[in-house]
Amino acid sequence: MLFHSTRGKDTDKDFASILMQGLADDGGLFMPDYWPQVDLDEIKSKTSFVDIAKCIVPLFTSSSFSHEETTSMVESTWHDFEHQDLIGIKEFNSVSILELFHGPTAAFKDFGLQLAAAFFNKVLESENKTAIVLGATSGDTGSAAIDACKNYGRIKSFILLPNGNMSEVQRRQMSTIKASNVFALRIDGTFDDCQDLVKLAFKKRDFLNNDQYLLAVNSINWTRIIGQICYYFYAFNQLHQKSNLNFSIPTGNFGNVFACYSAHKMGLPINNISVAVNENDILHRFFSDNNYSKQFVHETISPSMDISVASNFERLVYDLFLDRDSARCSKMFDNFPTNPIELDSITWQKKDRLFSSSKVNDLDTKKIIQETYKLFNYILDPHTAVAAVEAFNKSDENNHYVVLSTAHPAKFPQVYEELDIEINSLPFALRDLFKKEEYLHSFDADYNQIVNFINRNN
Ligand SMILES: *Cc1c(COP(=O)(O)O)cnc(C)c1O
Repeated sequence: MLFHSTRGKDTDKDFASILMQGLADDGGLFMPDYWPQVDLDEIKSKTSFVDIAKCIVPLFTSSSFSHEETTSMVESTWHDFEHQDLIGIKEFNSVSILELFHGPTAAFKDFGLQLAAAFFNKVLESENKTAIVLGATSGDTGSAAIDACKNYGRIKSFILLPNGNMSEVQRRQMSTIKASNVFALRIDGTFDDCQDLVKLAFKKRDFLNNDQYLLAVNSINWTRIIGQICYYFYAFNQLHQKSNLNFSIPTGNFGNVFACYSAHKMGLPINNISVAVNENDILHRFFSDNNYSKQFVHETISPSMDISVASNFERLVYDLFLDRDSARCSKMFDNFPTNPIELDSITWQKKDRLFSSSKVNDLDTKKIIQETYKLFNYILDPHTAVAAVEAFNKSDENNHYVVLSTAHPAKFPQVYEELDIEINSLPFALRDLFKKEEYLHSFDADYNQIVNFINRNN
């Protein structure tokens, strides 16, 4: 299995190359050359998440690692989870909540990032090299990346976070980690400023030692998607006796939705994927109006979904809408966001086979949190709540909905204070967070200041 770029100029790459490279040379995103098929009877016969992952991950890594190498890595990849099978499932009428927040940073991003970090380390060991991880975060990516990499001595992590709309818990998860290879950099600016600095660094690369890798941890890294594909098959394993499965997914950068779509292309029977967004509705505008255009970011109570563009969306356009026509894809995305994306109407209607979308504002998000608490004594996190609205509206005996629960509610305490809901049990990840010392390095949104800091610590 080799990989190629959605924009067609970076092709025939093996797994290890796209893992370490992140974004393709032509600015596109890497895709597998074909969709490997999964034997559903085999999936049904498995008894744990890790056993299912051992069927999925090797399908993508075979160009660089033997089957045995990959499966033994999969066995040791996901660590520090509080739930014995990593994932919990709660059922309310025809809705199942797939709890993906039992990992060390209490958000689903542990699944993709721990897998990526384990493979980063494997490649670095075999080539006897070191790496710098550089990323910008507005929420959960940073802490998951830091946690996933902190035990690998060959990797130094520098994570840029904005001064803005991030919960104090999220910030403390990054700033209180005491490890000599981990640095949280607070930037006096917005998330976009942080991202621009990271982009510039990836272009200039003027702070790397000889042979040192610069690694991207944002959700365009295909290995993160692989880790996420696994839990859709796990949901099938646990819930296939219900009716047709539908998934409702709280969405920002579209990584989780694209993993769901990938699972479907690999043979997972799915009736409908509901793309659920908050006021940052670029994807909802596309799925309901055929209008994909960048707007300003609104701050909401589901901050990990506060984005202006959804990077992984290019993969769906390429695979589903354009039938893998990289010339057309590159024309569209080379000119985006200057030119908004609008498909011809026949092409656009392909979405109807699988996708729907919904947009939920903060008021309705709070409402469903309160209702679910009253009815079921269950606390939804604000991101999960955005997706729960559609699931509770549309599900019935013939249509089971699975809501992806992407974070633990305790990450967003101010929301529950306002609603007068008490969160009784804190996940291990968040205990004592407010007692620990913070190690934050503050900078202006200035490239030279950042690079000087990296140089001093590299
Ligand atoms: C990252 C994140 C999302 C958005 O996921 P995407 O894959 O970027 O669409 C949703 N909820 C939480 C809690 C997150 O951390």
